[in-house]
Amino acid sequence: MNTAGNLPEENNEKSLRRSPVGRHLPTSGGLSGTLEKAEAQGCEALQIFVSNPQGWAEAAPRPDAWEFRSGVRRLGISPVVVHAKYLINLAATDVSQYERSVRTLASEMLAAGALGAEIVVVHSGSHGNDTPENGEERLVRGLSDAREAAELGVEEAREAFGYGDLVPAEAVVENSCGAGTQLLSDLDSLSRVLRRADARCCLDTAHAFVAGHDISQPESAGEFAASVREKLEERVAVIHFNDARNELGSHRDGHARIGEGQVPVETWTEFLGGVRGVPVVMETPYDTPEVDAEQVGLAKKLAGGLRLERGRI
Ligand SMILES: [Zn+2]
Ligand SMILES: [Zn+2]
Repeated sequence: MNTAGNLPEENNEKSLRRSPVGRHLPTSGGLSGTLEKAEAQGCEALQIFVSNPQGWAEAAPRPDAWEFRSGVRRLGISPVVVHAKYLINLAATDVSQYERSVRTLASEMLAAGALGAEIVVVHSGSHGNDTPENGEERLVRGLSDAREAAELGVEEAREAFGYGDLVPAEAVVENSCGAGTQLLSDLDSLSRVLRRADARCCLDTAHAFVAGHDISQPESAGEFAASVREKLEERVAVIHFNDARNELGSHRDGHARIGEGQVPVETWTEFLGGVRGVPVVMETPYDTPEVDAEQVGLAKKLAGGLRLERGRI
């Protein structure tokens, strides 16, 4: 893969980068292993799961939580993002599924807080055989119910997780591919729900592309970033920076490494240049440690340069 052409020059005045860049990393080797990988790959931001995303089992307290929080501070990683379980569907028509989703999201917000994470990304869910309007209604209510449940559970969680300063992480909704009856695959519905729920979002670039937003051309990528600014304003909490494996408008999920999917590598500067300051987290397939580190470095260059200017948005 040739990624050398047309990238912004590093370290000149124009190439100041304001977005911290990092990626999703596994926690299976223990949280200290996660931080070692983050450090080796040059991650300034990080995403993890706090429980098995494919099952309903709640996150358990981790003996290495304190060590993780201090490691994150030492490495200057911010934000730490948690991806919530895929099973959560706040737009579900079935009452017991809705309630389970609310309870589970609240529990993930608390478990994330126990690790010092600021953000929990939750999928927008599917409206099923009901109307999208009713689905959005439930999603808005679900976000508010989950926040309330997390607040109510905070004392208990402080004891269970042994962390007296625990605060629930903020739940942010992710845009979808628009597969089946998934909600929020376009900026208008995303904006509507965020305003009504007084919430922020995570914008996944691969989902946006397969949902029909053409970010593979410099001009349309710049226009997309401009609509994001116009319609979502300050409500984008994090970017999921993924290339798409599948075609524009295919509504089929599938992440590719940057430069290996549908979007020409240099086009990303148009999009990322339009959303400066928003943290960038990659969820691209794992490769060797060298390739993973290269991808993080590439994302930094595409987002404005290797050097990060923190707190100067
Ligand atoms: Zn996701
Ligand atoms: Zn994503």
